[in-house]
Amino acid sequence: MAQIIYPKIDLVEEIEKMKKLRSAIILSHNYQIPEVQDLSDFVGDSLELALETEKSDNKLIIFCGVHFMAETLSILAPQKKILLPDLDAGCSLASSINVEQLQEWKRKHPNSIVISYINTSAAVKAESDICCTSTNAVKIVESIPANKEILFLPDLFLGAYVEKITSRSMRIWPGECHVHVQLTAQKINELRESQPNAEFLIHPECGCVSNTMYNLAENNISAKKTKILSTGGMIKYAKSSTAKDFIVATETGILYPLRKENPTKTFYPAQKDAVCEYMKMINVDKVYKSLNELIYEVKVPKKIAEKARKPILKMLEIV
Ligand code: SF4
Repeated sequence: MAQIIYPKIDLVEEIEKMKKLRSAIILSHNYQIPEVQDLSDFVGDSLELALETEKSDNKLIIFCGVHFMAETLSILAPQKKILLPDLDAGCSLASSINVEQLQEWKRKHPNSIVISYINTSAAVKAESDICCTSTNAVKIVESIPANKEILFLPDLFLGAYVEKITSRSMRIWPGECHVHVQLTAQKINELRESQPNAEFLIHPECGCVSNTMYNLAENNISAKKTKILSTGGMIKYAKSSTAKDFIVATETGILYPLRKENPTKTFYPAQKDAVCEYMKMINVDKVYKSLNELIYEVKVPKKIAEKARKPILKMLEIV
């Protein structure tokens, strides 16, 4: 029997057509693969993506990132349909605590204030008093009255870093991101010694660099020529700096926009295999399928969403 040859379709073109047809927008986290970043309408860190979702007029959002981030968008923009092209795109840090474990921890420390890192499930956020990100964690802890005990979750390195900077002791959940295991102080110091003129840039988006921030606070890594920056800040800084070389400590996905925006400069990853496989699960095929079949919707139940919204908004009031 003659073999049927189907015409090859240009997926990127089809995605563009379908996006218009469905009045959708594609938002991507900057740790996504380059092909996905290139077809997106907006690429940013989790806070920038949440703000972009609220701002956009589109009712359909194809979100290329991980599950807890899609939940945060659903909490902040409940009137919009949020599709995550791969439901297995999770987060090892967010999975390190579930709502039952948090409820049990709260029962043991009933008068404590719960500070949850943004890398947590909607159900965990709903049981929290206030959220924080790596960038604002110090400010959030400082906003809590000194006589209150704090339960800080789930990133043990971010917690240790905040304790060191604020000189305040907290109860810290022993969770961690599997990616930061690659970013050891020793490896970073060796690379910095081999590139003495390079500036050292840290992007504290995820749990993947919280141990680097901790090592910096502990002086295990030199603070010389070091900048802690947001994604946008990092791109702008790299453009305006007179330095030609940069060592970048974060998940390696950020190297793509940095190199794209600064083609004459050299960016070295602090660790080449600091790769979050969850962030690489989405590809162009899955984005096409998601748009075509309207899968997979991430919708936080109304009751949980209303409770989870409060600690997020409280954080936004402070920072
Ligand atoms: S890099 Fe770590 S903290 Fe960030 S999404 Fe991946 S597993 Fe989670």
